[in-house]
Formats: sequence, structure tokens, C-alpha cells
Amino acid sequence: MCRDINATKEKFYEYIKQLQGLDYTSNIVFWDASTGAPKSGVEARSNAIGVISGFYHHIMTDPDFNACIDSLAVTPDECDDLTNALIRHYQRERNRVAKIPAKEYEAFQAHITKSAAAWEDAKEACAYDQFKPYLEKSVEMMRQFAEYRGYSGHPYNLLIDDYEPGMTVEQLDVFFETVKARLVPLLKKIIDLPKPRTDFIAAAYPIEQQLHLSESLLDLIGFKRDHGLFKESVHPFTMGVDIEDVRLTTHFYENDLLSAMLSTVHEGGHGIYEQNVGKQLRGTPIATGASNAFHESQSRIYENNFFRHKAFISFLYPKLKETFKEQFKTVAEIDLYRAVNIVEPSLIRTEADELTYSLHILLRYELELALISGTLSVADLPKAWYDKMEQYLGVVPSNDGEGVLQDVHWSEALFGYFPTYALGSAYAAQLYHYMSKDLAVEPLLAEGNFEPITKWLNEKVHQYGALYDPTVLIEKITGEPLNADYYCDYLEMKYTALYQL
Ligand SMILES: [Zn+2]
Repeated sequence: MCRDINATKEKFYEYIKQLQGLDYTSNIVFWDASTGAPKSGVEARSNAIGVISGFYHHIMTDPDFNACIDSLAVTPDECDDLTNALIRHYQRERNRVAKIPAKEYEAFQAHITKSAAAWEDAKEACAYDQFKPYLEKSVEMMRQFAEYRGYSGHPYNLLIDDYEPGMTVEQLDVFFETVKARLVPLLKKIIDLPKPRTDFIAAAYPIEQQLHLSESLLDLIGFKRDHGLFKESVHPFTMGVDIEDVRLTTHFYENDLLSAMLSTVHEGGHGIYEQNVGKQLRGTPIATGASNAFHESQSRIYENNFFRHKAFISFLYPKLKETFKEQFKTVAEIDLYRAVNIVEPSLIRTEADELTYSLHILLRYELELALISGTLSVADLPKAWYDKMEQYLGVVPSNDGEGVLQDVHWSEALFGYFPTYALGSAYAAQLYHYMSKDLAVEPLLAEGNFEPITKWLNEKVHQYGALYDPTVLIEKITGEPLNADYYCDYLEMKYTALYQL
């Protein structure tokens, strides 16, 4: 019996090695395409990706591989944590498509390609009607697929579980109700107060100096550049192809001092996570973050909780003043701190500040939940969008391009994804709270000493990779489930002091 299990495990890991090899290859192609490969090579690239996906699908549907998964799944006590996590991973991968009739799944993929193209045109023309039939079909298909796949409670549970394993509508409702009850009134208090000066942020900052600054920030926070790559791309992103090969990008704007620094630190947080998962997880799909939201918690904790902190600004300010003497001639430390933390309700989610960001997500969560529940029709979606923007953020779009059509997610039927952005900030605040019990975080930030901070995160979060579901991991680290109060407390304290409310 024991020998059988060992032989099955060996075979199982051999398949994983092949899947990982394919994954590695398609990741490198994607990296190459995003960081400077000529557009003219697109056809050869698509062919290569097509071939790789074909092989991937072939292994995923191989009866022998599936027999390995099934036989190991019934003996969890005889498998180690990693093998059990891998079984859960591949069962989830398989269940995502296996229960959907093959023809319908193919039709869905063809639909998504068309829907994405229709969305691009509709967004450009600010014409929701052009996109509406595609979105109607996507919602209908997602509801149908939920029936095929089976779910407990609400069909949306299944969708959120694809991105945030273990999360439910019940928990999300509590989370977003707290965010709404506490952050909407906080924003209302701030909205009409005088805005801080931001003129100096838009002065001219030579790209070469910005690059140097970004590299120093990565070194400071503990991203190992000798085990990674740092390049420029239109949309900053991070890609961990191996724990000793983690790649990230940023984007420089000459007339924006903050954009590149903030994205570099954000992506650096993702990168540090990827570089510090346990070595025993290497070469498996478990060698990554616990979930989308947990990954986002690591980028946001560096970007928001650390970089935007008053103590860290006191460390950064003299360095910026020294480097950019002219641009900082009349800029005081408090001006920099206020500009970094400006609150300005905007129409576009990706441009939102730290306080209003989660309100953009609240709105999307409520709307997609209503769409999937069938209580809101796709035809009524733009109106519902306007109403909620007014209610939560106090600003109203003048057209659908800067309203309901702004994000790519719904065009690709990625329902259930948005909440992970807000959950990421909330996990970050909860982790920061518990980190402060072990470390004197503020004095460390004021010295620019990230070593103990990053080490704490390595030990508590990073080393586990995706061994545990996020709901399990947050309890393991903090002794309690996700609690939105830490997040709301943090924002209330910060902005109350900043705006002297
Ligand atoms: Zn991110």
C-alpha cells in the first residue's frame, strides 16, 4: 500500500514538472511580449502560446494524471502538506472546466474573445449599447456554469472562490457593510476641505534619476535584484517564474514624481512575496501567493502602510530634497506627506487614492452580485453605476467610458475578481496591526530599516506560499479571521490626523 502511494506520488510530481515547464515557457513569452518584443512578431508568439496551451490541456485531461489526483485525494493523512495543497490546486483547476459540457466551454471562450473586442470598441466610443448584448450573454453563461459546477449558498460563492478560495458572500457582505458604514462618512467629512499642494509632484523629474530612485527603493525594501529583473512596461506587473527569477516592471512619467515610485514599491511587495516562498515548494504551482487578495496585501502593505507612512516620508524627504534641489526648493516635509496621501474622489478606479479605492470596489461588488443574483438587469447597469458613484464617492461620470465601461474585467467575464483588491488592503491593515505587536514599526520606517519588517513578513506570510487557503492563513498568523475593523481603524486614524478632523 505504502509503496503504491509512493509510486503514485512520484508519477504525480513528474506530471507537475511537465506542467510547470509549460507554464514557465508561456510566462517567458508573456514577459517578452510585455517588455519590448516587436509587435510584428505577434503571430509567431500566438502560435507558440497556442501550442503550449495545447500541451497543457493534454496533460490536464490525461486520464493517468487524473487517476493520480483521485487516488492521492483519498489518503490525505498519508500525504505531506505540499502534496495535499497540490491536490487541492489541481482539483480546483479541473473543476473549473470539467463539469461544463465541452461544447459550451468552447462557445464561452469564443464568446469572450468577441466580448473583449466589443468592449474595446464600446469603451472608445463611450457606447454601452454596443457592449450590452455581450455582457448579457456573459452573465447568463456564468449563471449557467454555476449550475453545472454546483455551489453551496449563493452562486457568487463559486465565482469568488476561483480567486479567493474559501471566501463567501456571507463574509463579503459583512466586510463591505463595514467599509460602507465607516469609510463613506469619513470621505464626506474630507471631501470639501482645502486640497494640499501637489504642484511640485508634476515638475520635471528626469527619467534616469527616477530609475535610480526606483532601484534604490527596491534594494531598501529587500527585493533581491540579483534574483530578478526590473524593466519598464506600459502597465506595471510582477511575474515570478522561479523563486530565484522574479521579474517586475514599472512605468516612468517625466512629470510625475510619485507614479513610478509607488508602482515600483507596489510591484516590489509582490516580488518580495514570490522570492521568499519556502524552497521546498519550488517548481510547483504552490510556490506563489496564497490567493489574489493575499498577494495584493503584500504589494499594498509596502505601498500604503509603509511607503505612505508619515515616518517613512520623514526618511524619504531629505533624500528627495538632495536629489531634486530645484524641484523641492519650496517643498516642506509635510507638503510631501500630504501630497502622497491626497484624497480626491475620482471617476476611475485605477487612479483612486488610498481612501476612495475600496469604495470603487464596494460599488463593483454590489453591482456584480446583483447581476449574478438576477436582481439587476444588464440594461439597468449604467444607471445603477451612476447612482452608486454619487452615493459613495460624490462624483458622477459624464459618459459610460469613464463609468461602467472603464474596467476590462467584465468584458472577460471575470466576475468575483474585484473584491480581492479591497480584501488585499484589509489583510494588509490586519497584518500591520499584528506586526506592530512584535516590532517597533514606526521607528524602523523612520530609519528606512526594512530588514526586520520584511523578515517578519517572510516568516509569517511568504514562506507558506499557497500551502493554505487565505482564510486559514490569516487565522494562523493573526489568530482571527479577516476583520474589516483593522482596515477602517487604520484609515480613520490616518486621515483624522492628516486633515485634523
Ligand atoms: Zn498588485
